[in-house]
Amino acid sequence: MNEKDMTSPRYEIPPELRHQVTITTLERIYNWGRANSLWPMMFGLACCAIEMIATAASRYDLARFGMEVMRPSPRQSDVLIVSGTVTKKMVPQIVRLYNQMAEPRYVIAMGACASGGGPFKEGYNVVSGIDKFIPVDVYIPGCPPTPQALLNGLIALQKKIERQSLRDLPWYQKGPAEPIPVPVLGPDLMDPRKFALIREVTHRQAVQDQQEGEVAHE
Ligand code: SF4
Repeated sequence: MNEKDMTSPRYEIPPELRHQVTITTLERIYNWGRANSLWPMMFGLACCAIEMIATAASRYDLARFGMEVMRPSPRQSDVLIVSGTVTKKMVPQIVRLYNQMAEPRYVIAMGACASGGGPFKEGYNVVSGIDKFIPVDVYIPGCPPTPQALLNGLIALQKKIERQSLRDLPWYQKGPAEPIPVPVLGPDLMDPRKFALIREVTHRQAVQDQQEGEVAHE
């Protein structure tokens, strides 16, 4: 953030103190600190992860944005970069990792697969985008997106953070945030919040089948 943006709303600073003293709001300095110290989770799913690894290497150098510390633990990470094809088998693990991240936390859907299923959309084992399960802050198009595209997405996330208000953010409200229920992988992915409905429909179907069987027997 440049000095002009930092000192808004404007306060008159005496000329002799300019470039030595800055007056700003708590929200701006806090957002600036958060946006420039994002630690991504060391986590990849498929081919897009190779581009993410390349972005962290010396040629593109995430350290320029304060993001060089890729953490192998969700409890020390701020950004979950969903980089690759999201299979149904992996969804429970991704939701669990998201729940384990400390707030404030952000999610980037990197590539066509994470954003909407990509070339495997409608496949029997692939979900049509991770945003069906966890909230996504930035989507990055491409198959795969280049390291430059990932950097552009991370800069977009920084700009989004700099515009946020501490008053509205869910993690600064009263009371703890509710974790997202982890889907259960059975014959298909099941949302635990819909178990009662699934049980009711299954029971109704079983009773109907039994009645039809008895009628056919008579
Ligand atoms: S978007 Fe393309 S490169 Fe990325 S995981 Fe899917 S198939 Fe692989």
